Amino acid sequence: MRCSRCGSDNPSDKKFCGDCGSTSLARLLASHGRCDEARSMLAEIYNWFTGGIDTADLKEAKALLDELSG
Ligand SMILES: [Zn+2]
Repeated sequence: MRCSRCGSDNPSDKKFCGDCGSTSLARLLASHGRCDEARSMLAEIYNWFTGGIDTADLKEAKALLDELSG
């Protein structure tokens, strides 16, 4: 999947971009109607970032997760 942020091509099993760390790959999945896959991917990403790390990418992941869960 091609990252929508940096244009880097990633293997389809990648959870986020290997180049820029963007969680846009999950958003890409969702935009292709693969919401269940995107949701589990995001949940996994989110669970990795325990300990209150507050990054833009984590916020992005959480926002999309909320979006897909709603
Ligand atoms: Zn990227």
